[in-house]
Amino acid sequence: MNKYLTENKKIFSFDKSFSINITFSQPDKYKLLEKISHTSDNLINIGSNLSYSPLGFSRESLSINIKNFDRILHFDKREKTITVEAGLTLIEFLNFTLKHNLWIPQLPGYPTITIGGAVAANAHGKSCGKHGTIRKSIKSILLFHKTHGWLNLSEDKNKEIFDLTIGGIGLTGTIVSVTFELMEIKSSKFITKKKEVNSVEDSLKLILDESKDASYTYTWNRADNLSNFGKGIVYKNYLDQNLNNFEKLKEEKNQFKPFIFPMWNKFSINIINSLYLKLNKLTKSEKNENFLNVIFPFYGKENYFNFFGKKGFIESQLLVSEEKLNSFIEEFKNLFEKFEPTITLFSLKNMSGKQKFLRFEDNKICLTFDYVNTKKNLLFMSKIDNLYNKYNITPSIIKDSRISKEILRKSYNEELTRFKDELFKFDKKRIYQSEISNRLEI
Ligand SMILES: Cc1cc2nc3c(=O)[nH]c(=O)nc-3n(C[C@H](O)[C@H](O)[C@H](O)COP(=O)(O)OP(=O)(O)OC[C@H]3O[C@@H](n4cnc5c(N)ncnc54)[C@H](O)[C@@H]3O)c2cc1C
Repeated sequence: MNKYLTENKKIFSFDKSFSINITFSQPDKYKLLEKISHTSDNLINIGSNLSYSPLGFSRESLSINIKNFDRILHFDKREKTITVEAGLTLIEFLNFTLKHNLWIPQLPGYPTITIGGAVAANAHGKSCGKHGTIRKSIKSILLFHKTHGWLNLSEDKNKEIFDLTIGGIGLTGTIVSVTFELMEIKSSKFITKKKEVNSVEDSLKLILDESKDASYTYTWNRADNLSNFGKGIVYKNYLDQNLNNFEKLKEEKNQFKPFIFPMWNKFSINIINSLYLKLNKLTKSEKNENFLNVIFPFYGKENYFNFFGKKGFIESQLLVSEEKLNSFIEEFKNLFEKFEPTITLFSLKNMSGKQKFLRFEDNKICLTFDYVNTKKNLLFMSKIDNLYNKYNITPSIIKDSRISKEILRKSYNEELTRFKDELFKFDKKRIYQSEISNRLEI
């Protein structure tokens, strides 16, 4: 490493759809961040690189990783506020706040995601029907921008840039620290209840009904073949109301390492799904679960992703209104019959909020599909893309690395234009650029 702590390395997007050799820099002091930012015309920020799409790097940009900025800068227990540096991971954050029976509930599903990455993606957790996205917990942000320097952002200061930065996929500069408003959490244990369902319609009814009282409601549905499409389980997590002592969350080494030979195919998915449902029948409908299992469901189950092999997978996450969901699913099934896609995961949850700029947020139902990365599946996905306009669907650009600029334009409409205009007004040189922002001409 040189004096700017700069290194070259080959990097992959989390879904393995894209890889390049990049230069990245890991400053350990704010002064160095300033200096490094002036060594390259184009820059982009990178956290733990757990975005499914290539959002934290590009051929032309120097990637700035602020993992060394991981301190808790200020904590006010009475006011329930905390200021942390953006390189802090979620598990490190929680290991501090949960000790005080405080947290933020909008936690994306993997513990080594950074605070900066979660804010730049406007991440949401399983309780997004109830708690919305992380935007709701952010009080202020300290941003460093190559030409504008240090900026305090909040509802009262630089409001426009505050708004652009949350969910702004790292294009407004480097988020250096974030102040959150914390919520009380009585215990870090959950009670999980589950119910079997036979269709997407039944799942929807339970989600809408049950989102009201449970902390988290979400589903696991089959999509391995047409005859059992939609069969599945609706889960409901409640916080255990008994006050209990917090136990430190254990940090494990990241286990993401794709298998040489992919393991997911129609046959294996069918077997695993059938076994999963059978096992479900044999187990109790109510059980106690620990915090990590509920909040970070893939932690310790990384083989789910490793099974896709080196070619990886594509995730599609879509926001569809409650009224249009059943008709959309009918068309989805018609296309499914024709193209027979290989889908490893299908899930539904309720989402709340307001769609603005590039944020994946709305008062809609959030559908998630994971596809094996094959030509046939890509063709099927392109047919589904064509339904976005008809059903007023918003896709996630954090998850789906395949989205084209036409699809983005059609689905985000004037919010995309507004985002681009505001961003250009703030930064005429458009310094911060990623592979995705280049592809989508943002
Ligand atoms: C297993 C798994 C489960 C997930 N579950 C969820 C979920 O439930 N809900 C959800 O919303 N998301 C989920 N995600 C996606 C994840 O929350 C986002 O992709 C998040 O941005 C990743 O954070 P990161 O630290 O890895 O950032 P990276 O992937 O490195 O970067 C993501 C974006 O943030 C920007 N960025 C990173 N750090 C900074 C910074 N300091 N300043 C400015 N910009 C910055 C980057 O430029 C990039 O645009 C999941 C991902 C995985 C792998």
